[in-house]
Amino acid sequence: MSAVVSGLDDSGVIASYGQPGQGPLVLVLCGIHGNEAASVVAAQAVSDWLNLAKPTFVGHFVALAGNLAALRLGERCVQRDLNRAWTPEQVADVRARVARRDAPIDSEEREQRRLLAHFDALLEQAEGDVLALDLHSFSSSGAPFSVVPDAPLDIDLALDVGLTAILNLDKHIRGTILEHFTGLGCPVMGVEAGSHYHPRTAGFHESAILVALVARGLLEPADVPHFDARRADLKRASMGLTDVVDVVYRHAIGPDDAFVMRPGFRNLQPVYRGQPLADDARGVVVAPIAGWLLMPLYQGSGDDGFFIALSR
Ligand SMILES: [Zn+2]
Repeated sequence: MSAVVSGLDDSGVIASYGQPGQGPLVLVLCGIHGNEAASVVAAQAVSDWLNLAKPTFVGHFVALAGNLAALRLGERCVQRDLNRAWTPEQVADVRARVARRDAPIDSEEREQRRLLAHFDALLEQAEGDVLALDLHSFSSSGAPFSVVPDAPLDIDLALDVGLTAILNLDKHIRGTILEHFTGLGCPVMGVEAGSHYHPRTAGFHESAILVALVARGLLEPADVPHFDARRADLKRASMGLTDVVDVVYRHAIGPDDAFVMRPGFRNLQPVYRGQPLADDARGVVVAPIAGWLLMPLYQGSGDDGFFIALSR
């Protein structure tokens, strides 16, 4: 039941609007997990609106397909998770293989080389501030949220967008694309806009992109139709949950764990210490602490069973 993305050329450029090198750059990554196509729909919608409405615009908005081959298949990845490939060491290895003219080791490395070439060219051209926005959706139901590093600029942007901000996920997952841009000194924000297949997920992504374009000064709020309503909608989608939470626990799963989440858990649902959450080869998996349950795994692929976060 995954949506399959077609119609993109091999560059993976979904949208490019405005003037490179003049003003801020907002770089949007769509579908670094290929089964998360709502983000592509959203970036195309923003691009269509910009091209039709031609609002006052300063800077450059670029949206890129993350894992293009996986998007075309409607799968999370082809061989391995492209959102675990961006530690400085991993990126240096890929760059070294490019320099040696080695063939890519797999489909994901081919994607990473394409993205690195785009990033290099865009950052070379950029003269103003750069923001990287990484768009995702998830396999459970539940409220949308944002993921940001524990840094003032990033937290401010997250609060501007109005979704519950999840901090310190980067301390539990290495090699995300957010880690790459944080390492380059760019503000970043990940947006998890809801369940993969929920009809509102693409709309939340669209609003998050527009709010980010306004927050970084590319667009005037008065030019964005229903701007205040969009922000209020994002805030409401957070269901009045706490503004900022810290991720304090990750339940890692291995290939032989036979991990199965028990049914009915939602994202950002409160859980108590000792609450049975899942079953695996060793027995019942319980919550080790009380807190907010994050991203319970309801799809076959992925090595994060769930996370627990605490209000700040
Ligand atoms: Zn994802």
